[in-house]
Amino acid sequence: MNPHDGMYIDGAWRPAVGAGTIEVVNPADEQVIGTVPAGDARDVDAAVRAARAALPGWAATPPAERGKHIAALRDAMAARQDELAATVTAELGSPKGFAQRVHTGLPIAVAGSYAELAASHPFEERIGSSTVLHEPVGVVAAITPWNYPLHQVVSKVAPALAAGCTVVLKPAEDTPLTAQLFAECVDAAGIPAGVFNLVTGLGPVAGQALAEHPGVDLVSFTGSTAVGKRIGAVAGAAVKRVALELGGKSANVILPGADLAEAVAANVADVCRNTGQSCNALTRTLVHADVYEEAVALAAAALADFAPGDPTQDGVRVGPLVNAKQHARVRGYIDKGIEEGARLVAGGATPPEGHDKGYYVTPTVFADVTPEMTIAQEEIFGPVLSFIKYEDEDEAARIANGTVYGLAAAVWAADKDEAAAFARRLDAGQVEINGGGFNILAPFGGYKESGVGRELGVHGLGEYLQTKSLQF
Ligand code: NAD
Repeated sequence: MNPHDGMYIDGAWRPAVGAGTIEVVNPADEQVIGTVPAGDARDVDAAVRAARAALPGWAATPPAERGKHIAALRDAMAARQDELAATVTAELGSPKGFAQRVHTGLPIAVAGSYAELAASHPFEERIGSSTVLHEPVGVVAAITPWNYPLHQVVSKVAPALAAGCTVVLKPAEDTPLTAQLFAECVDAAGIPAGVFNLVTGLGPVAGQALAEHPGVDLVSFTGSTAVGKRIGAVAGAAVKRVALELGGKSANVILPGADLAEAVAANVADVCRNTGQSCNALTRTLVHADVYEEAVALAAAALADFAPGDPTQDGVRVGPLVNAKQHARVRGYIDKGIEEGARLVAGGATPPEGHDKGYYVTPTVFADVTPEMTIAQEEIFGPVLSFIKYEDEDEAARIANGTVYGLAAAVWAADKDEAAAFARRLDAGQVEINGGGFNILAPFGGYKESGVGRELGVHGLGEYLQTKSLQF
């Protein structure tokens, strides 16, 4: 694609007021593949004004009509899926099969789900003698990270539009080209001017100006817990609504009697998914002492199928990390694991052979990890798996719940009922039972410091609605 040198505001690409630019780098070869404008508070202000002006008309548009617009947006994304997927591969480094199947296939499906929900949701209901109206919250600031650059945008924009809200999006600095293509899709879908607006820019400049803008009614943020806390504070001071999807340190609990080979194979694939850059990655494997060494050996062997490679090549399942900073961060955590006494079983911090250019790291397995070690507590955001031993189920639950996070978890047991019973003990927003897959209609979000609010399905729609009761 040819990057736009302007912002998509009020239905048109306009020159940015902010003078700076952001270089977009392909993490596989470190080449600059484009530049986008670095908007400042003035660009944010123009976008928020456009969103405010468009709000009354969009909020008054019948929900079924809004649903038709979202269906057109889904179709516009589907028509350009190959281009969107290639863009995600170019700026994030995602292996091309994953870019097609997940990075673009998933958000297209999510947009479809909100096209249907807009048409079918009861925005008005009777409760006793009252009529309860579910009305749009207003102007939404959507601030998104780079790790699922289209999915995270669509998971905010689609429900916001379905609810009757208007949006200003500030995407991550590393992946603005996907966001620009998305804006082209919004335009092609004929969504009225001002309903969706895009401002590219730096987090502490454009992102902060957007979160602080008095014309914004709700800030929906996905990203690091550190920035999420700041955004929560800014929103709290102004009594704005806030939704936060933050980090995780999710546990994969393998109970005695589970199919060990299946559970470990799924865990290795999960931690390598998106090169370990998934907020819900199952990065801590909890295994009973009796089968601990067997599980560790299975994981080390399974890594043979996950050698990093050029993400544009067929069959490659692990690409580079997104940027030099994340590369240094992940390698730093691997060094820290060794320093604190964990046993390096596979992988390590040295660059994979043949990759002296690009932000590659070899998928890594650590054993003898204890719950208090840094690599068992902090989010690494790379393909690094830590094996932790437990003696009984109480200890397993204690370790699984023993971090500040509570985003996701998985439980494996001899049968689903046993796994589901254990899942009820976990502080996590979603728990996979014996390998259960992702459901785009199920609520997604965190307990504890993993966030506030839920995305996807009807729960995600609810974030963008406020209720009014008419008493008769
Ligand atoms: P980040 O917090 O640095 O940035 C996220 C977004 O916030 C970017 O658009 C950035 O420009 C913006 N931003 C940065 N500083 C800001 C500020 N002061 N004010 C307003 N906006 C600001 O996170 P990242 O490095 O882009 O993403 C990685 C993190 O995101 C990981 O910790 C990961 O776990 C988390 N994440 C969570 C989920 C989830 O659903 N829970 C999903 C994806 C990523």
